[in-house]
Amino acid sequence: QHLFSHVELAPRDPILGLNEAYNADTRATKVNLGVGVYYDANGKLPLLKAVREAEATRIQGAPARGYLPIEGIAAYDQAVQNLLFGAESSLISAGRVATFQAIGGTGGLKIGADFLQRLNPQAKVLISDPSWENHRALFENAGFTVETYPYYDAQTRGVNFAGMLQALEQAAAGTIVVLHACCHNPTGADLSAEEWQRIIAVAQARELVPFLDMAYQGFGDGIKEDAIALDLFAASGLNFFISSSFSKSFSLYGERVGALTVVTDGKDETARVVSQVKRVIRTNYSNPPTHGATVVATVLNTPALRSMWENELAEMRERIRAMRAGLVEKLQAAGVTQDFSFVLRQRGMFSYSGLTASQVDRLREEFGIYAVSSGRICVAALNQQNLDYVVQAIASVVR
Ligand code: PMP
Repeated sequence: QHLFSHVELAPRDPILGLNEAYNADTRATKVNLGVGVYYDANGKLPLLKAVREAEATRIQGAPARGYLPIEGIAAYDQAVQNLLFGAESSLISAGRVATFQAIGGTGGLKIGADFLQRLNPQAKVLISDPSWENHRALFENAGFTVETYPYYDAQTRGVNFAGMLQALEQAAAGTIVVLHACCHNPTGADLSAEEWQRIIAVAQARELVPFLDMAYQGFGDGIKEDAIALDLFAASGLNFFISSSFSKSFSLYGERVGALTVVTDGKDETARVVSQVKRVIRTNYSNPPTHGATVVATVLNTPALRSMWENELAEMRERIRAMRAGLVEKLQAAGVTQDFSFVLRQRGMFSYSGLTASQVDRLREEFGIYAVSSGRICVAALNQQNLDYVVQAIASVVR
């Protein structure tokens, strides 16, 4: 019996590999811009005050840990819907929305993908070029063929909207289109409201299945502002999917707090969809964990904690903005003639910096500054202590 003798070594996750190399680096000045998490002004992963308070209350109550319902905590699922669509949403009152607590945003994508695979196994999935690196693997693992639609335009440092639209116009009916609702990962380039309207018109005309990935609500322009795509889709009458995550907005990465939300035609359809998605969840992991979702539901549903969280989220958002501005200003002051002002137009944690793979190599080798080879940098890993060093290093490799 040699069960594992033919098992091949899988390729390393490129970003986790980067973290390992960073950890092994002994230079005191090293900076990790390859990460996908928010660090505070001191370069630390924050534990939000609102989270700390909700956790303290929960621990004090010493609750027993029974199983949750398959679809998760009802108050959490309701709070997710309210955050996505607004508490006054007519979609919610019409019973057109089903939300399932999920194991992070990734879990929301996965149970959505598994449900879609049962509905239409032949459907193709389109993801943006480029996209979050797990989108392709996740939908392929669920049994789909995954292709891309044009998205990033390196020339304009914005969205190749004509290319994107054309690809969607050519897609077969039933094609699942994964869209980043805001704060596109990895580019930071988002669609305007007018562009979203045109995507919606194509989705309607071509009978596409939109799957909106909302991993950064509140990191762009604000909680409501970042949900503009959701508002427009909600008004369109389309059926669509949303995966959402509190990993970033609550800094609760390891608690795996996310959701899948499905918009149907009405109450009766919702009940049938719920029954089927519950089967998907039951056969994957049975039911979700208690802690993270309890904390998030407590914060969202307790006015004092809610406003505390909104302030902390605004602080994170504004600090990222300040780092974007600082980077652009200081690069200019350092004599870099290349225009970096596009960094200010980008939204969310990331910037496609325009740095080439060989410039990224030089940053790492000569300066101990780690970035993804695509040139993606995490702006949220910059702070007042490392900004000047990073600027000098970039200035020296782009010269
Ligand atoms: N989608 C996108 C676009 C992301 O960037 C991420 C997190 N990096 C996720 C989904 C997954 O989020 P979570 O960690 O909550 O599973």
